[in-house]
Amino acid sequence: MSLPQSTLPNASAYDTVPLPWVEPPPPDALTLGLQQPDKSRRQAGGRAIGLQLLHSFIADRSRQYRGGISSPLRAVDACSRLSPYLTWGCLSVREVWQAVQYRCASEAPPAPKHLAGLNAFGSRLHWHCHFIQKLESEPGIEFHNMHCGYDGLRESEHKPEHFAALVSGRTGWPLVDACVAMLRETGWINFRMRAMLVSVAAYPLWLHWRPVGEWLATEFLDYEPGIHWSQMQMQSGTTGINTARIYNPIKQARDQDPEGRFVREWLPAMRKVPDTWLFEPWRMPAEMQLRCGLRVGGPDADIPTPLVDLERATRLAKVRLFALRAQPEVKAAKAAIVRQHGSRTFVRKRAGKAPLVAVPAQLELL
Ligand SMILES: Cc1cc2nc3c(=O)[nH]c(=O)nc-3n(C[C@H](O)[C@H](O)[C@H](O)COP(=O)(O)OP(=O)(O)OC[C@H]3O[C@@H](n4cnc5c(N)ncnc54)[C@H](O)[C@@H]3O)c2cc1C
Repeated sequence: MSLPQSTLPNASAYDTVPLPWVEPPPPDALTLGLQQPDKSRRQAGGRAIGLQLLHSFIADRSRQYRGGISSPLRAVDACSRLSPYLTWGCLSVREVWQAVQYRCASEAPPAPKHLAGLNAFGSRLHWHCHFIQKLESEPGIEFHNMHCGYDGLRESEHKPEHFAALVSGRTGWPLVDACVAMLRETGWINFRMRAMLVSVAAYPLWLHWRPVGEWLATEFLDYEPGIHWSQMQMQSGTTGINTARIYNPIKQARDQDPEGRFVREWLPAMRKVPDTWLFEPWRMPAEMQLRCGLRVGGPDADIPTPLVDLERATRLAKVRLFALRAQPEVKAAKAAIVRQHGSRTFVRKRAGKAPLVAVPAQLELL
């Protein structure tokens, strides 16, 4: 990351060279059955806009990074929003990293909160590469569990009605459905909400990460296979090496959107729901529904009722996951996964060794 940035090749030299994949042209999205309407509120593409975002983030917005990235409302400005530009190659990780280093070392150093934001952002850039390395090291994790001890956990229990409720934003949990609505129109939600969405899919709805990951890959404007599939597996508990993080969508709503501004913005039907029932609208008494002109539950409902009892379904999911986790052969197989995919700094720290100075050459994908 500290090496000089590459200079742009002379574009005109390429104008006359026929590229091998130009003739015959590759199939378009329609032929592949991938055509979908453009997202009305997506970020606009291109290097110039990417650079503007980079500059506004480094100069100013990064002050709000720490403390601002978890709320779905504040994250829209507090996060860098550089992910699609990195994914599509409009900006390189190296140039972003160097721009951050340059600002941190400048003669007028950033104030402590600003510096903390820039450092936290720098860590995310490390994660970007760390996650992509996992897929380079083991491309199969796009398709199979990172830890084979979890094979068979969910595969045979796919519930189409659970999947349909999730992708259509009709789970009945307001924060989940609001995230799906935002994703559909913008192609972006923040990390915490992505993690919550996958956790809800994987635990109470008990869906396998493959179909959920395929759906999200078509929704994310920043779809980056290396980050995506590793995160899908982490949030579904199938890596075998990460702590299971199970997000409760009602608690997340209370913590991250206490006044319901986010859910009311993205779910118009929620605008009529009084604060008392904001997080659990299915508990609204029938006469209150009538008074508000809303139908909760039932086939033509404005707001659906959740398909499962959140607490009970999550408890059962945990029992099943932890029972597998406790099996001696599942425990024993962890070490090999840590060796292949664990952070080198973490592995060395745990072994009481100093961090590596020279990092071994990356695997080549030939
Ligand atoms: C289930 C799931 C799927 C995800 N899929 C993708 C994906 O397809 N593409 C993608 O770019 N990010 C993905 N992420 C990571 C993260 O949510 C996004 O990078 C982030 O929300 C993008 O917004 P930003 O650029 O404003 O982030 P910032 O917080 O400003 O981060 C800057 C950059 O650091 C990297 N980064 C940030 N968080 C992570 C992380 N947790 N792991 C690895 N790299 C990270 C990204 O390149 C990001 O653009 C996923 C997270 C989850 C939980």
